[in-house]
Amino acid sequence: MMTLENQQVLAEQIRANLTHVRQRIVAACERVGRDPREVRLLLVTKTVPPERIRYAVEAGERLLGENRVQEALQKISALQDLPIEWHFIGHLQTNKVKDVLTFAQMVHSVDRLALVTALHKRLERLGRTLDVLIQVNTSGEPSKFGVPPEETLAFVRQVAAYPTLRIRGLMTIGALTEDTERIRACFRTLRQLRDLLVAADIPGVEPQILSMGMSSDFEIAIEEGSTLVRIGSAIFGPRPTPHTMYWPEDTPQAHSC
Ligand SMILES: *Cc1c(COP(=O)(O)O)cnc(C)c1O
Repeated sequence: MMTLENQQVLAEQIRANLTHVRQRIVAACERVGRDPREVRLLLVTKTVPPERIRYAVEAGERLLGENRVQEALQKISALQDLPIEWHFIGHLQTNKVKDVLTFAQMVHSVDRLALVTALHKRLERLGRTLDVLIQVNTSGEPSKFGVPPEETLAFVRQVAAYPTLRIRGLMTIGALTEDTERIRACFRTLRQLRDLLVAADIPGVEPQILSMGMSSDFEIAIEEGSTLVRIGSAIFGPRPTPHTMYWPEDTPQAHSC
């Protein structure tokens, strides 16, 4: 058990990290003349225990995201008393659709038709709709999930035919590299695709959201138009698990559901 004093230190650390991240968001907006209110902060809570998540929510955060359905379900029951909006941001297997719909107000990772039909079937039965983002593989890295950029418009048209799914925008993971120009190119690609979608004016599609930017690259993402940054380690500290655990190297196998 942690002592009360240790708990207070940890809570203080999380509050300080949050303040710092919020300041960096504002500064990035100012550099490119954007209104900071256009950028929402989503806290990525994978591997973070509920007690620590609670500190962040008590510091005023409402928007939280998880990558794994099983892990999410456990935490959500421990945090039921708090006013949290949960998003699902990880690779979603079709056999987890039923569970994800019990908590997720938005799914960021819609990337294939099999998932779309599974979501639609379940949503129809529930008699409701779901806000979704289309995940695009802007880096071309085979380890990333997502629709290739050149197929995005056609895929959005397909998804738009399902009345239960409300397409609210696009999501991407920037290239995992130190090369900031390559990262920036990923985010620029996503914004250009969004502009293409706006121009295409597809009925039922309101593609305002650009979910892009993580701890290591959120300032670049904001400069390139991000409206929703997904930040974990810059707030909760380093994770025991590497990124590759969530975005496996072997795409064909990982894609099967
Ligand atoms: C883990 C994760 C993040 C946050 O990563 P950090 O580097 O901890 O900020 C954002 N988006 C997705 C999809 C993730 O899996």
